[in-house]
Amino acid sequence: MTGEKRAIRGIGMTSARTRERLVQRLGETGISNHAVLERIRSVPRHLFVDEALASRAYEDSALPIGQGQTISQPWVVALMTQALIAGADLPLKKVLEVGTGCGYQTAVLSPFVRQVFTIERISGLQQAARTRLNELGFDNVRYRHGDGFKGWPGQAPFDGIIVAAAPPEVPGALLEQLNEGGRLIIPVGPSGQQDLVRYTRRGDQYLREQLSRVSFVPLVEGTG
Ligand code: SAH
Repeated sequence: MTGEKRAIRGIGMTSARTRERLVQRLGETGISNHAVLERIRSVPRHLFVDEALASRAYEDSALPIGQGQTISQPWVVALMTQALIAGADLPLKKVLEVGTGCGYQTAVLSPFVRQVFTIERISGLQQAARTRLNELGFDNVRYRHGDGFKGWPGQAPFDGIIVAAAPPEVPGALLEQLNEGGRLIIPVGPSGQQDLVRYTRRGDQYLREQLSRVSFVPLVEGTG
């Protein structure tokens, strides 16, 4: 066996066991949606991080992806996805994702949605995510290099919006771009101590539910 093949097999064997352990752990910590747990089991998270970190890909932790950014913790991705789709008619038609990063959340979300629209402010990350997701066969994703504070007005309204970085306050443009009954899942607050919140649109009103205390990188205005 070549060194390369051995390395790939090594990761494969580690990941089968450690993926199972990860799914079990999420099941014990509030992730009850089986379809979401199945996504965590099947999306190859080790392909979304640098090779040097691949052996840690099925730990329930955020990991660096370059440019000072991180791949979100699997538990957080699962919680946000579960909060978005709970009780909804699937697939949702249009979902906006703010903060593509490496594209892991996009991959988890993809089969629950007819069309995913994803925005990233750092061009290098956006291009790498697009290449990776194309190679993995995700063909229902549209990409934009831009500032997620503004949403994607040309494609609104959305049935759901997921934001993977934390603004100090909820951006009005994102609330406005929700469809009737649409949900916005967003961390809000200062660095390191945010509330993950779900807003549900009812006409001009928004139902606000607090989901958890979380720690995200900040949502930064403008493009990088
Ligand atoms: N969704 C990723 C998490 C990425 S971390 C995952 O699945 O792991 C958050 C990302 O949000 C970073 O890539 C960061 O560059 C991006 N970001 C921060 N502010 C933004 C903004 N205003 N518009 C779009 N993306 C933004």
